[in-house]
Amino acid sequence: MITERGQRLFLLLPLLLLFAAGVSSAGFANEASAQVAPSAPLNVVVTLPEIGEIVGKIGGAEVVVTTLLSGSEDPHFMDATPSLVSRVARADIVCAIGLELESGWLPKALAKSANAKVQNGGAGFCELGPRVEVLGAQSGATDRSMGDVHRSGNPHFNLSPKALAQSSRAVLEVLVRTRPMKAADFEKRQRDFVTEMVRVEKETRDILRPAIEASKLRAVAIEYHKEFAYFFSLYEINSMGSIEEKPGVAPSAGRLAQISLQAKNAGVKVALASLTAPLKHVRRFSELSGIPLKTVPTVMMTSSRENQDATSIEKVQKSIAKAIVESL
Ligand SMILES: [Zn+2]
Repeated sequence: MITERGQRLFLLLPLLLLFAAGVSSAGFANEASAQVAPSAPLNVVVTLPEIGEIVGKIGGAEVVVTTLLSGSEDPHFMDATPSLVSRVARADIVCAIGLELESGWLPKALAKSANAKVQNGGAGFCELGPRVEVLGAQSGATDRSMGDVHRSGNPHFNLSPKALAQSSRAVLEVLVRTRPMKAADFEKRQRDFVTEMVRVEKETRDILRPAIEASKLRAVAIEYHKEFAYFFSLYEINSMGSIEEKPGVAPSAGRLAQISLQAKNAGVKVALASLTAPLKHVRRFSELSGIPLKTVPTVMMTSSRENQDATSIEKVQKSIAKAIVESL
């Protein structure tokens, strides 16, 4: 019979072993690659599915990708659940967006995982945000009264193929660091990924042509949360800004009345919101302003659902572009 104490120890044992394995790799950060047999694929855990696409395309047969978000969650607000933590615990590499997008839950998951090599600063940790030309970085002091402001800038660059191409450098670096003998393959595939993003940007721009023309005269779009900023900036879509007054804070009745009137008077054609935006507020905006609401995927999905196929970076780009053009 196992005593209660024995039982607890029994449950703790795998965790202690895991921790011991982690600590040894922290001590020899350069030897992190020695933790994985050279022939076995690297277990790469990513937050957003977009990062999964990048890792899969650059890593090829050298990686197995696990995606923590499926595309139907709000990436700001996730829970560090035991199943999420166990996936992080088994990772050789963890890749995140950074720029505080995952700051509410990823640090907790990393700490609970006790996996030393993927901790922030470890050989197996990578953040894509620092490689991107960031929009909306705050120079002055920020505090909670300003809402959920991201001090290091807007983290929603996954809606820009150009920014994703820039960010793929971070993926290349962590893969080369972990499996240096495959560096040449990784480098070639990273260049291919950049070329592919140039094509996706060009084709999306072609779809958006009428909206780009209309944007020269007036604001054509408004967004609920500043998730489309990189998309608008890349394609020069004239946006009135956001329905939210403070990021992450639901707009008051007064704000909704004021911004609806302003958008109506400006002749805005479409209000864009993510699938996780609070529909009550966006619908109210649409009622007050008479401006049609389009909910579109703002994070790539791992599987298609509800006649929304957003299962690649390219499909997300084109579905947003079509939603805008259809509303002109
Ligand atoms: Zn945000």
